[in-house]
Amino acid sequence: MIDIIYFFENISSLHRSIILIGGITFFWSIESIIPLFKFNYKKLKHAIPNLFFTLTTIVVNFSLAFLLLTSADWVTANNFGILNYFEIPFLINVLLGVFLLDLIGAYLPHYIQHKVKFLWRIHLVHHSDHNVDTTTANRHHPLESIIRFAFTLLGVLILGTSIGVVFLYQSISLILSQFNHANIKLPLNLDNVLSFIIVSPDMHKVHHHYVMPYTDSNYGNIFSFWDRLFGTHMSLEPSKIIYGVDTFFNKEENQKINSLLYRPFEKPKSKSKK
Ligand SMILES: [Zn+2]
Repeated sequence: MIDIIYFFENISSLHRSIILIGGITFFWSIESIIPLFKFNYKKLKHAIPNLFFTLTTIVVNFSLAFLLLTSADWVTANNFGILNYFEIPFLINVLLGVFLLDLIGAYLPHYIQHKVKFLWRIHLVHHSDHNVDTTTANRHHPLESIIRFAFTLLGVLILGTSIGVVFLYQSISLILSQFNHANIKLPLNLDNVLSFIIVSPDMHKVHHHYVMPYTDSNYGNIFSFWDRLFGTHMSLEPSKIIYGVDTFFNKEENQKINSLLYRPFEKPKSKSKK
């Protein structure tokens, strides 16, 4: 484990890019072998806005990375944060770091974005994909990337995680997100067993169903525990799932980068729950 943390402590931008591109390539290939839905779409054309938003996510995270580095170094040097307060074995410290960063850096901002109206309009960009596949994982408006970054930073300060743990967490988070958005069909039992530990593909797809209350469920990214603990876990048969959001169901508009960038500043078109 020390070796793994050492690797992530010194991980280069090249290695981080390899994880990102490797993940997309891997799940992209698997999608054509065991698809969950046989989408009638042009895969590459569909991926364009999603890859654009993946790129803006990289730019945001790359530009702000110094804040994460400085904070993680500072908490480590000053023994600051909950995890540094107790004398716990190294392995437990790392596991707890990843586990709790998943709560503060992913579950929490995701939950809040579903509950606060303006933040929901930012998050709509992610939900307005009508063909959820592995490229949907990072379909986030740049403002959402900033929000998620801020919560991860908050997590580092509260928990006192070292930069090695932060980069390990971010890499697992990225791969898990690509995995649970991927348009893949795992054997039902396997998906079910996995969903007791991590967010499985079938579990996350429920969150992308176009109507309430399913949209407001299964907020988790890596661990499914948080949804089960906070009572936000829901199930729905994959065959019943329709992707998108009922209040913004214009499939053409939802593929246009300009419209998506402008989405948070548009007046909501209907008076539904959102
Ligand atoms: Zn969501």
